[in-house]
Amino acid sequence: MPVRPTPQSGVMQIAPYVPGRSSAGGGSSGKIVKLSSNESPLGASPAAIAALEGLGNTLAAYPDGSSSDLRQAIAQTQGLEAERIVVGAGSDELLHLLAQTYLGEGDEAVISQFGFLVYPIVTKGAGAQPIFAWDKDYCVDVDAMLGAVSERTKLVFLANPNNPTGTYVSEAELMRLHAGLRPDILLVVDSAYAEYVTANDYAAGDRLVRDSDNVVMVRTFSKIGLAALRIGWMYGPAHIVDAVNRLRGPFNVNRAAQLAGEATVRDVEFVARLKAHNKKWRDWLTSELNRNRIRILPSQGNFVLALFEEDGGKAAKKANEALLEAGLIVREMGAYGLPDALRISIGEERAMRAVAKVLKGLNE
Ligand SMILES: *Cc1c(COP(=O)(O)O)cnc(C)c1O
Repeated sequence: MPVRPTPQSGVMQIAPYVPGRSSAGGGSSGKIVKLSSNESPLGASPAAIAALEGLGNTLAAYPDGSSSDLRQAIAQTQGLEAERIVVGAGSDELLHLLAQTYLGEGDEAVISQFGFLVYPIVTKGAGAQPIFAWDKDYCVDVDAMLGAVSERTKLVFLANPNNPTGTYVSEAELMRLHAGLRPDILLVVDSAYAEYVTANDYAAGDRLVRDSDNVVMVRTFSKIGLAALRIGWMYGPAHIVDAVNRLRGPFNVNRAAQLAGEATVRDVEFVARLKAHNKKWRDWLTSELNRNRIRILPSQGNFVLALFEEDGGKAAKKANEALLEAGLIVREMGAYGLPDALRISIGEERAMRAVAKVLKGLNE
C-alpha cells in the first residue's frame, strides 16, 4: 500500500448516504411528482419567498453569525428562550455538532432499529459506535432503548415521530425513557415532524429540555417549505448550547436561510394550512390503501410507510416500478433494512389520488 492520508477509522465504516431519487428514469412520460424526501406538501410560505427579494443587496456581507433575529422569532412564537437556541445549516449540521461535542472513541450512542440514517453516520464520524435497539412492531420500544444502554453510552438519539416509520412515542413514554437514563447521558429528541403531529398525547420535548440538564430538542425547516435552504435549530440547556456554539462555524447559516426561516416561523397561518392539508391526505391515503393488502403504519409525519409484507420485498419492488411508470417517485427502504416497504411523502391531492390508484390497481 502506498503511504497516503488515512481517514479516521470511523469514517470509513459509514455506508454512503443514498438520497431520495429525483428523476423517474426512462419509463415514465409526462409530469414527475417527487414524493421521496418528505418535503413540504404545499411548497414554501409566500412570506418566505417574499423575504428573499431584498437579498441581492446584501450578498457581499457575512450573515449574522448568531442568527439572532431568527432565534428571537422562534423564541417568541414557540414560547422559548432565544439564548437557548442554536441555528444550524439543516438539523443534520446540529446532529453532527452534537455528536462531535459529546461522542468520541470508545463511546456508544443508542439508536432505535429503524431510526433516522443520519444518526449512525454522525456517531461513526465522531469515532463512536452506534448500538441499535429493536423496535416493537415498527415503533420505538423504550424498554429496548434503555436495555441497550451500557456504561459506555454517552448519547441516545430518538426521532419522534420517527422517520421512516412515521410512528411516535407518547409524552409519557418519552418521560419514561428520560427517567431511565443516567444524568451523564445526552438524550437528543429529534422532532423533525413536530409541525405535522396531531396526536394529543405527543410532546415535542421543549418541556423536558427546560426541566433537565441532559436533553436537547432538534427541529428543522426542511419539512415546512425550506429544504433547499438548509436550516434547522436546536433548543437545549445553557451548558450544551455553550459547548455546541464553541464548535459551530462562526457563520454556519447563510442570510437567505435566516430570512426565510424567520418569515416561515411568523407565518403561523401557512404552517397551520400545511398541517391541515397533511392530516387530511395522510388519513385518506392510509385508509384507501389499508383496504388493499398493503399495510400502512399509522403516521404522525408528512409521509406514510407502506408495507408489502408478502413476497419478501418483491411486492414492494413491483409497486415501486408501477409508481415510477406513472411518474410518481417514492422512497425505497432497503438502506433502512426495510426491503418490503416504500415511504410515500404526502403531497398535493392529485398526487395522492394517483398513488392510491396505482397501488390499488396492483391488487386487482
Ligand atoms: C428530514 C429529517 C431531518 C431534517 O434534516 P435537515 O438537515 O434539517 O434537512 C432531521 N431528522 C429527521 C428524523 C428527519 O426525517
